[in-house]
Amino acid sequence: MIISKENKLTVKQLHKVESIVGEFDCSIQVIYGAHRNIYAIIGDERSELMVNRIEGLTYIDRVDRMESVYKLMDVRSELAGHRSSLGGVKVGEEPLIIAGHCTIDPKNPGYLYETAAAIKEAGAHALRGGVWKPRTTPHSYQGDTKTLDTLLEAKARTGLPVVTEVMDEEQIGIALEANIDMIQIGTRNALNYSLLKQVGKRTAGTGTAVLLKRGRHMGPIDEYIAAGEYIVSKGNPNLFFCPRGTLPGLDGYRNHPDESITPLLKQKTWAPVIVDPSHSVGRSMYVPACCLASMAYGADGLIIETHIDPARGIGDDPVQSVTPEILQRIIKDARTIWNLSSRYTGSS
Ligand code: PEP
Ligand code: MN
Repeated sequence: MIISKENKLTVKQLHKVESIVGEFDCSIQVIYGAHRNIYAIIGDERSELMVNRIEGLTYIDRVDRMESVYKLMDVRSELAGHRSSLGGVKVGEEPLIIAGHCTIDPKNPGYLYETAAAIKEAGAHALRGGVWKPRTTPHSYQGDTKTLDTLLEAKARTGLPVVTEVMDEEQIGIALEANIDMIQIGTRNALNYSLLKQVGKRTAGTGTAVLLKRGRHMGPIDEYIAAGEYIVSKGNPNLFFCPRGTLPGLDGYRNHPDESITPLLKQKTWAPVIVDPSHSVGRSMYVPACCLASMAYGADGLIIETHIDPARGIGDDPVQSVTPEILQRIIKDARTIWNLSSRYTGSS
């Protein structure tokens, strides 16, 4: 990873660096930060001579060589200074709250408008709404591109940034064209490396946030962080991790709640953690406890399925969604725990 003296290299300086690394069969990937760009060396960066020649350039501060499998995501990486944001809302001032439907109902767009207004009133920062849905069986409702208009209309009415899941390249293109503020990669695609690379590449330099759910069959924590590295290494550092429960589920819950992975993630990587309690416990009655536990574990935010009238929702909404009234209480209590747990920040 090359650290320049100024925030960004000029085109001419970048060409010079590229020509040096090219001699050693490496290339440069630019990671576009809001204020500072980082220049990742792709390839075998161990050559002493290559590093010396780059460090010899007057506009280069240093070359960091990280041995970790996820050198960009590592807490020691220069990217650790990156402050992720969602539609202008920066992480770190209060818990970042995303709320809204599991699935947007193509027949009843009005529900999403009502939910959007109510979650805004409750204090949420962003609206979620599933346009395209990964369903266990092909016989269930698969989503509908037309519902993207409903999501955009809800955004226009409330001014809330919006979040939706994409599962393939065509959907990435449509979502970016529509200026979706955060793209979600669901649990099923958490290890779909081609999709992760595409998302990183196509969102690079756009400011679009990416929410990477934890794969429900994922192995070691490093596998999860390395999946994030696929996105960031293609140029977009605006990444958020999202534990959402793993399988096998804990009896009575949809999955095995995994909000407790939060401090471990934070020890190893700099990317913020937004916990999804809804898919983790899978029942609205358990969602508040999971939210508050997540805050105690140091999560930066929550993504909570919420519906103005859960019983009339589709997809997961009838079982998992909380009402805006419950959401409001969760947000209030989440802030209290956030303030309490921040007392422990930095303690060992
Ligand atoms: C969702 O957010 O509605 C969803 C399907 O998420 P996951 O990939 O975590 O199951
Ligand atoms: Mn859902």
